[in-house]
Amino acid sequence: MDWPQLRADFPILNQEVHGHPLVYFDNAASSQKPRQVIDALVHYYQHDHANVHRGLHELSMRATDAFEATRKKVARFIGAAREEEIIYTRGTTEGINLVAQVWSAQYLKPGDIILLTGMEHHSNLVPWQLAAKRSGAILQHIPVLEDGTLDLDTAATLLTDQVKVFACVHISNSLGTINPVKDLCAKARALGAMTLVDGAQAVGHLPVNVQDIGCDFYAFSGHKMCAPTGIGALYGRYELLEKMDPWHGGGEMITTVTLDTSSYKAPPAKFEAGTPNIADVIGLGTAIDYLESIGLENIQAHGNQLTTYAYDQMQALPGIRILGPRQPRASLIAFALDCAHPHDLVEFANTYGLALRGGHHCTQPLMKRFKLPGTSRASFYFYNTHAEVDQMMNILHQAVKFFS
Ligand code: PMP
Repeated sequence: MDWPQLRADFPILNQEVHGHPLVYFDNAASSQKPRQVIDALVHYYQHDHANVHRGLHELSMRATDAFEATRKKVARFIGAAREEEIIYTRGTTEGINLVAQVWSAQYLKPGDIILLTGMEHHSNLVPWQLAAKRSGAILQHIPVLEDGTLDLDTAATLLTDQVKVFACVHISNSLGTINPVKDLCAKARALGAMTLVDGAQAVGHLPVNVQDIGCDFYAFSGHKMCAPTGIGALYGRYELLEKMDPWHGGGEMITTVTLDTSSYKAPPAKFEAGTPNIADVIGLGTAIDYLESIGLENIQAHGNQLTTYAYDQMQALPGIRILGPRQPRASLIAFALDCAHPHDLVEFANTYGLALRGGHHCTQPLMKRFKLPGTSRASFYFYNTHAEVDQMMNILHQAVKFFS
């Protein structure tokens, strides 16, 4: 794989920040976009833009074809059985809210258990807190062990037939832990629970197959995998989508409307009210083509190499605490230094052109679990290099000297 050649596809990476070459290690927050995706957006707006589905004219048909072709690509990319199982969303957050709101209104009763984990992103906690409040369901959480993995012994005792929803993050954005979602979903489904996986950090980083995982729902965001912001997808098993009530009401999701009542289209249209984010859907399709041309196994292998290379050097820094297991680990390393608050460290790194992220990473309960105000996080993607890790190590060594 010609990694330097691939890196050249990302024009934004070729710049200096505060007089130093930019080292972008904030990929878990959002990835950068290759020229191919940027060009696809420009081409669409310059040549093909019109509203989808409604028009019989040339531009509307072109826009509709590209919009629906991407749905097929997304379905294939994540291993869905059919394209009608893919609902376009703004991202992971919106996908989870859709399921939590519809499910709690339609199915959850007082006393039902919603089982989550202690390492969820706020976007897989808050929607379920709202759902519990509305329905009278009870929230429970699988604890996180000191090594940053789930406490599977306790999980076994929490998985009872009172659990009606099991929702779990595939890869933790704060620990790098890769959770055994296939096994957990199988256990939860055998007890009759609906299962949802938050795939925000997984899709585009390793091969994902929702049928192999066996979950009912899987949500992810395009912007973390080279696609534009504001677009993502929710996978849902078709027979569940068919039975579910709509979420938002409006144009495009109906078959007939009278002043008093409406009937709804079949999924996915039932869940896509209003004019969708057409351009960014097309950008998502281009991003999938781009990632598939590299190969998800190659992307994962490169990420593993870089992460292990960084992890082993970082471990030797005085006063460092790295969260999460060494292996298996996704391409991110969150850490705390005794000598510096994460915000101070991230500001220091920024003066050398190094983009890290500092804070609670939208996982406040997890920070509390580890008794930390927050962490600093370096997160990698396939366009990052070993030389950039060396640069980060230099800066971290200087930071330790500066703050000690
Ligand atoms: N879950 C995880 C694990 C994440 O890392 C993120 C993004 N930081 C989200 C959910 C939410 O994704 P988005 O903000 O794109 O909806």
